[in-house]
Amino acid sequence: MMFHEPHHGRWHQRLGRIRKCMGEDYGRILNFGAGPAVLPLEVVEEVANSLPNLKNSGFGVLEISHRSGTFQEVIDSANRRIRDILSVPDDYEVLFLQGGASTQFYMTALNLIDEEEKADFILTGVWSKKAMKEASRIGKVEAIWDGTNGTFRTIPQEGEYKVSDDSIYVHYTSNNTLFGTQFKSAPKCENKPLVVDASSDICGVPIDVSSHEIIYAGAQKNLGPSGVTLVLLSPWAKSRIKQNLPTMLDYNTHISKGSMFNTPNTFGIFVLDRVLAWVQRNGGLEGAIERNKRKSKILYEILDKTGFWKPHADVNSRSVMNITWNLYDDNLEEKFLYDAEKNGIGGLRGHRSIGGIRASLYNGCPIEDVEKLAEFMEDFERNY
Ligand code: PMP
Repeated sequence: MMFHEPHHGRWHQRLGRIRKCMGEDYGRILNFGAGPAVLPLEVVEEVANSLPNLKNSGFGVLEISHRSGTFQEVIDSANRRIRDILSVPDDYEVLFLQGGASTQFYMTALNLIDEEEKADFILTGVWSKKAMKEASRIGKVEAIWDGTNGTFRTIPQEGEYKVSDDSIYVHYTSNNTLFGTQFKSAPKCENKPLVVDASSDICGVPIDVSSHEIIYAGAQKNLGPSGVTLVLLSPWAKSRIKQNLPTMLDYNTHISKGSMFNTPNTFGIFVLDRVLAWVQRNGGLEGAIERNKRKSKILYEILDKTGFWKPHADVNSRSVMNITWNLYDDNLEEKFLYDAEKNGIGGLRGHRSIGGIRASLYNGCPIEDVEKLAEFMEDFERNY
């Protein structure tokens, strides 16, 4: 009878094992998309197993109340793992919000400055420009460095920008997802408080949390699925939070309720916790840094070898997360993308605003996939 059938979770696990024994690989492609991005397969399988029944609670992960003890354990676990992986100081807040990094463009400024106060921006790409535009709705803003004219090929070096005397903080974007450039370390800003959008390299590269006042990141690249935004707040940031802000845009609302003032993205936070557990099982932040260096080196070596490829970013500003390039012959780019798809390699089309090719090598992207992409690129080069 139906109710004597094996438990759904166990049945799913068995099905998974049977599929693997049969060599079934789910028909997944090698996914180099910029986000939402590939997640480790073992995490995807673990998530699938939790759909019918999360941790033997009897509730499926999509169906469980955020007020349940089971979910409280999940969010507490995600919080602890973030603190562990990123060495977050105890007096920092860890929040899991919604609205994406795009909401943080506005929310950071709203909480930190008023209309008479000013924030500095280092413009290394489209996302930093958007962040500045949103902040300009709150207070004064100044672009203290702007890479627009160099089509965002570079990251500024110390001495190429000057922090304003009267600014409250400096905002920068650690990794420029579209153009494939990245700060190797936080910009030197004369001890001015730093706010960073780390959406596309959080938990994938070194970061000194304690030298930042706000760190925010959409989860959908290195941390999990879309719909969760990680926000870290320092004691200084907390001390600056303005009065009488709209409830949902007030960091204090979310601090006081442990990110559960309203219904959080329960599923997204669950997946994020599983991704972080995977990061911890695989050498923590150090392991991720090492793998990301190795993956990006494989591609940059090919791009630098011959004039067939035209890497976009200046050598000293290159990202290990998003590798961007063109082909010497523009006409070959469509062919490259077409052939890649035919060979089961997807997500390589550059952002719609700049075109070209982009391979995103986030934490969930296995090194073997990068090796296969490299092989495909070398074959393509030989053939054309
Ligand atoms: N900042 C960066 C660096 C990004 O790469 C993105 C998205 N690709 C965003 C902000 C916008 O994020 P969201 O879609 O989560 O609002």
